[in-house]
Amino acid sequence: MKCRTCGQKALVNMRQHKLALCKEHYLEWIPDQTERFIEKYKMFTRTEKILVAVSGGKDSLSLWDILQRQGYQADGLYICLGIDAGLNYSSESQRLTEKFAARRNLKLHIVDVQKEYGATIPQFAQKSRRGRGKPCSVCGLVKRHVMNRIARDFGYDVLATGHNLDDEAAILFGNTLSWAGEYLLRQGPVLPETPGLARKVKPLCRIYEREMLAYVLLHGIEYIYYECPFSAGSTSIYYKQLLNKLESDRPGAKLSFYLSFLEARKSGLFAERQEIQAELHPCPNCGQPTSAPGLCSFCRMMSQQ
Ligand code: SF4
Ligand code: ZN
Ligand code: ZN
Repeated sequence: MKCRTCGQKALVNMRQHKLALCKEHYLEWIPDQTERFIEKYKMFTRTEKILVAVSGGKDSLSLWDILQRQGYQADGLYICLGIDAGLNYSSESQRLTEKFAARRNLKLHIVDVQKEYGATIPQFAQKSRRGRGKPCSVCGLVKRHVMNRIARDFGYDVLATGHNLDDEAAILFGNTLSWAGEYLLRQGPVLPETPGLARKVKPLCRIYEREMLAYVLLHGIEYIYYECPFSAGSTSIYYKQLLNKLESDRPGAKLSFYLSFLEARKSGLFAERQEIQAELHPCPNCGQPTSAPGLCSFCRMMSQQ
């Protein structure tokens, strides 16, 4: 197999794109593709301030790497969740994130959930009705609150996350199985800013997980290669397995599933967005927009502690 660009031996073969590339051209291709999607979906410009949510995993570190390479003003945000049972997931991912930022002289905000809010994610989950022993729902709520807060307090225009195509296709699959209208309305490469909330973007949303894996490995970026222990047995992993089966029989199926959804959205299939936005009001405690009556879900959870 030969590199399409230079004819040397190819190192990465992407059946889904009918494209094979050598190391050098692959490492150019991923940032080029990302740049194309940033422009296509009008995610941000070089004059805007970007906050990248970094977990220490391959996707978020690669995203930060790419944005830096492409000359964007991108700072990082690491949220220490306090998930350290077993493999020291949080400490290790924080160590790798700090190392990455220090080597490249990048600005990194660190928020330690226990120090700032009084409990780790597993402790919050144990105490709160919302958690019921499975911390992911509490974790998602806390992460969203912290990301929005840091973006607002430090004046970032955009919040960027490292969701890749596999993540997006799995979320879409789950939302489609239950026709979760409100979630479908909000899923996409860009969630526009609303009063009090920065724009949210996913620049890697069209890049396969294995393409991101090849990118970090070929670059030698050190990342945390094991998952959070609470992700074991999650439905999103199950959906990813199902979609991988489909993809191996029909290369490109994941991408076309996601892109067809975006087309359907554009054509107005999910047109009630305005009404949903209109129902938001600022939480009387933290000021973040919420659709819940009274306190937002985060503040309600905090008040139950
Ligand atoms: Fe949080 Fe669940 Fe993800 Fe772990 S798997 S980081 S608990 S959302
Ligand atoms: Zn080449
Ligand atoms: Zn609140």
